[in-house]
Amino acid sequence: MQPKEIAALLDEPACAHNTKSKSGCARPKPGASAGGCAFDGAQIALLPIADVAHIVHGPIACAGSSWDNRGTRSTGPTLYRIGMTTDLTEQDVIMGRSEKRLFHSIKQAIDSYAPAAVFVYNTCVPALVGDDVEAVCKAAVEKWGVPVVPVDGAGFYGTKNLGNRIAGESMVKHVIGTREPDPLPEGSERPGIKVHDVNLIGEYNIAGELWHVLPLLDELGLRVLCTLSGDARFREVQTMHRAEANMMVCSKAMVNVARKLEQKYGTLWFEGSFYGVRDVSQALRDFARLIGDPDLSARTEQVIAREEAKADALLQPWRERLDGRRALLYTGGVKSWSIISALQDLGLKVVATGTNKSTEEDKARIRELMGPEVKMLDEGSPRALLDTVRDYQADILIAGGRNMYTALKARIPFLDINQEREFGYAGYAGMAELARQLALTIENPIWPALRKPAPWEEVAS
Ligand code: SF4
Repeated sequence: MQPKEIAALLDEPACAHNTKSKSGCARPKPGASAGGCAFDGAQIALLPIADVAHIVHGPIACAGSSWDNRGTRSTGPTLYRIGMTTDLTEQDVIMGRSEKRLFHSIKQAIDSYAPAAVFVYNTCVPALVGDDVEAVCKAAVEKWGVPVVPVDGAGFYGTKNLGNRIAGESMVKHVIGTREPDPLPEGSERPGIKVHDVNLIGEYNIAGELWHVLPLLDELGLRVLCTLSGDARFREVQTMHRAEANMMVCSKAMVNVARKLEQKYGTLWFEGSFYGVRDVSQALRDFARLIGDPDLSARTEQVIAREEAKADALLQPWRERLDGRRALLYTGGVKSWSIISALQDLGLKVVATGTNKSTEEDKARIRELMGPEVKMLDEGSPRALLDTVRDYQADILIAGGRNMYTALKARIPFLDINQEREFGYAGYAGMAELARQLALTIENPIWPALRKPAPWEEVAS
């Protein structure tokens, strides 16, 4: 990837309404932890495409550091869960044979698994050596006739977020627009319902939560051409250019894809969330608004009314148990505001929220939800989190897995909200699961037992 291409991606504003470069969006600070390198970001953005052979071109440690650490699920192929790497060593570098190794690795992947496509992720070592990954991929396509896509996001190019965008850029450049969508299956027409094609961008199907939402979209006649990238197939990514509307599910991850599809194909997009009753309803309304079909709008309102009533009845017992509980939320990006909305729907009070990876627009939404005086935590060190829990008397810390031991050692109830979690919280159905997990965590009898003085302390006193 050329330096000017990287600079353009870095300058891509992360906010839906901000179209000017370099303004309004936080830029990485020297020394700030971004939670992974550009390669890591590129790989996690595309790894959920389930029928693709994902080859990491580099030393084995690059592949091992983050392989399959997200709980993304697939309804079919499991090829994405097989770790593949060219396993470069210093001998390959000294002998100048790393390109050859990559070529043979692609052949081995095609021979062994007959994948729908091969994605090749560049890493620091081959990028520094000067491997022409794009040329190797091109040669492999010519030789074996299988799509081979270079994803040039070597670790030293920048942050994980830049890697997400590089991944999106590769899809726009090499994959999207290379195939037309399948016609609707015969006999699938429903009288009076016109089918509209849409995409979800930046949705990763963590713990299968996308499946809470798909039945609603299907009922409304919204055919999801592709989810980039949760439970996606290569052939679906190829057809993304034909959608009538795109939903950007995580603002920072692949906003460049939504923008490029708008510029190239005129596809309108909006930024939304599937967390929280209000936000799910809003996302459905936004689809209807962008598509501009009055019948779809009317049916959407009917579905929302029905589902909200159902969700209200389901959540009422949980609301009684959770009402007035205080939560400290430490997560990033779109979740920094979308989870607030979900927690408020359940009657919890969010006392502070992390904004480490949030855009300016994310922060504006947080202020809208929690008032201008809200405490935003830009830094998530264990000390800062524990001080905030104590000062604001939070009942629970809701954060990513890396904060789990901080909370547990301090005997604070903890709920994992990030990608490693086991439970899906999206959609109306996901709200009931979120409520259940919150109540089980806060009310767990272990906490009062742990907070009591130890037996030897009692004896001593
Ligand atoms: S920084 Fe470079 S060497 Fe380290 S994991 Fe990322 S790509 Fe590999």
